[in-house]
Amino acid sequence: MLTIGKFKARLIRPNHPDWLLVGVDTKDDSRLYILGNGGMSNINCAPIESFPEEIKNYAIEMVTQGELYLKGNEKSLRIGQGKSIYSYTLKQIENLLPTSSTTRKIYFSSIFIRWQRSHQLSDEHVQEKLGLTAKEFHQFREDELTITPDLIKKLVEITGVSEQFWKNREDQKNKGFRGGIMKTFKTVTMQKVTTLVCDGCGLEVNADGGYEFQEFISINHYCGYGSIHGDGKKIDIDLCQQCFADMCGDTLRATDESNKLTQEEKAVRRIRLNVAIFLMRFTNQKLKHVS
Ligand SMILES: [Zn+2]
Repeated sequence: MLTIGKFKARLIRPNHPDWLLVGVDTKDDSRLYILGNGGMSNINCAPIESFPEEIKNYAIEMVTQGELYLKGNEKSLRIGQGKSIYSYTLKQIENLLPTSSTTRKIYFSSIFIRWQRSHQLSDEHVQEKLGLTAKEFHQFREDELTITPDLIKKLVEITGVSEQFWKNREDQKNKGFRGGIMKTFKTVTMQKVTTLVCDGCGLEVNADGGYEFQEFISINHYCGYGSIHGDGKKIDIDLCQQCFADMCGDTLRATDESNKLTQEEKAVRRIRLNVAIFLMRFTNQKLKHVS
């Protein structure tokens, strides 16, 4: 059950796995919604009336006082049944952004919680599997629990994700993950990516680091007309192979056909694929503008 205290706390933590947003119907500003993390790339959205009344009153008060406001360029998000919403921006968050973009807090627990949600396992269930009490599990989620080798062992057992992954994540957390600049460049005769930082777990690998670097997956996409991120916006993400696999889950297709290809042939294929995607997107864009 969502209490007003929890609601407030979750509203101001955009990087926390339990983030919440308040949304409003694009056609009826008296209809408010609460959006939350539904695991993987899903977003849960429910009418605010399905939460205790004090939460609705608090949200309305924040809107009235301008603490929650709609950005001028806010894009609508379709939520099904022909409805769309705009999500409110929290004034405090806006003010915090300059610092939060350079010192992004990394939650050790967030990947586990995403995994838990996508497998639809209850807190009680995973808590027992991890050998934690309810209080300890709460601390784990809030990153207040000391990560012991035993806990890492349990995480490996339950999720099937490698021990190295959880250790890297712990390491990143202890070092304090610096978000913001995700790629660092070294000037040789041309600019070359020398370090990649995973946006999921913070794993940092450099070009001399061997296969982890080679297997990093970077996605760059220029959004077009109708994009929920905003027309003309560029979105990009760098993911280590483990986080990429975690996010895709069972939807990922893996085939053997490129096994025999040399590095060079693989590179050529990659370029061809990018060109094909670009052309496809370009054509789509044209069509949309014409129609
Ligand atoms: Zn990662």
